[in-house]
Amino acid sequence: MEIREPRPRTSGKRKAAIYLRISQDQTGEGLAIERQRKDCEGIALQKGWEIVDTYADTVSASKREVRRPDYERMVSDLHAGKFDAVICYDLDRLTRQPRELEDWVDLAKYRNIALVTANGEADLTNDNGRLFALIKVGVARAEVERKGARQVAALRQRAERGGVPKGVPLTGYDKDGNVIADEAKIVRRVFDLFVAGETLKGIGRILNESGVKTRRGARWDSSTITGLLRNARYCGRSTYRVREVTSDGKVRYSRHVAEAKGNWEAIVSENTFDLVQARLNDPSRKTNRAGTERKHLGASLYLCGRCGGRASRNSRAYWCPQGGHVARTGAPIDEFVLRIVEARLGLPDVLEAFSQDTGALMLETATEAQLIEARLGIVENDYDEGVIDGRRYQEASVKLREQLAKVYAKRASIVGGNALADVLSAHNPAHAFTEATLGVKRAVIDALMTVTLLPVPRGKKGFDPDTVVIEWKG
Ligand SMILES: [Zn+2]
Repeated sequence: MEIREPRPRTSGKRKAAIYLRISQDQTGEGLAIERQRKDCEGIALQKGWEIVDTYADTVSASKREVRRPDYERMVSDLHAGKFDAVICYDLDRLTRQPRELEDWVDLAKYRNIALVTANGEADLTNDNGRLFALIKVGVARAEVERKGARQVAALRQRAERGGVPKGVPLTGYDKDGNVIADEAKIVRRVFDLFVAGETLKGIGRILNESGVKTRRGARWDSSTITGLLRNARYCGRSTYRVREVTSDGKVRYSRHVAEAKGNWEAIVSENTFDLVQARLNDPSRKTNRAGTERKHLGASLYLCGRCGGRASRNSRAYWCPQGGHVARTGAPIDEFVLRIVEARLGLPDVLEAFSQDTGALMLETATEAQLIEARLGIVENDYDEGVIDGRRYQEASVKLREQLAKVYAKRASIVGGNALADVLSAHNPAHAFTEATLGVKRAVIDALMTVTLLPVPRGKKGFDPDTVVIEWKG
């Protein structure tokens, strides 16, 4: 049996790949790329290597996230054994990621992959070259960390001064923090609809249907709306992002509120903002029947007259999914229910009837809210006049706002949800209901009444109001 010694590969003719990187933003790079290529080919000639492929990526220096498809293709070709040497102009062009550079050093050391640079700075086939590369890795790493820390410190400092945030301005503002009236109107509308009981999806649909686009020209969805509702800058609070590395090495960002108030005009009040946060954080919101998106007034809200289950709705009719006990044409039932609600809201006793006889409680919470608002006013005044510093202002106002949000929540629950409370507090509740969005109407109906659909004999023509049973909750 013949045993062959493994041939040291360095003695054979290596197959080499050339990697080039072109920067899109620099003029005259066209020339530079040809020079890069020539220098790399010169190295191959000098070493007696055969060039099997050339990879080139165009990157934009202004974009942070850089996709380099040819780099990825080269790495997978390398692992597939297409070549065993890589020539690039310098290490910076190959990669600026310390982790990737470390991989190259390992490949050179353990898998005998040759990596040389045309500018002569590194030759990873020898110890000195690898050492040079590793030092470069260390320097690059430290620089990345320093830069990160500097950026965070600068952002924080800016936020603490209440400065207008850098970067892409929020919808509703220009880059100097001035309010753009048309956009601010949309922002206010989103907050108002949510406070009134509309769902995230419902708000998205309303905006999309009225032809309003996001600033990027996209359609609104739940996540863009949540992002908007969660942004404390809309109520004039200065915030900054903190980068945190968790124990398992993951990077997480969290938003902190700075001590100072923002030096820009708020689009919504702090009270509205806090109320919205309380609702967004309310775990029952997602399971609330009225809170889930529906296209029809009574879907899963009306009950089946035979089994008491919740009725479904197809394009034409309400029907019982539990056993087909009822199937009723939808439009006249919705029409009837809407008219009943409007009529009830038009009666003078409605506020009393649906406040669960809680007039005194309502008055109590109103007084409570007024007291807290007055205290907030004092704290703000003290801050403005320099009587208290930012930290104390922040502590005091956060505490008071938490109390206020609780009072608002209590008030809302007393009258059976924000939606009903809102409609009832309107100058003309019946009119407010008529004008409300579908989501709000559903929430109001749910708070006001139970609607039960009785089965009707097949083929019976016309709508009989007696087959829809309304039970008032008040
Ligand atoms: Zn049924």
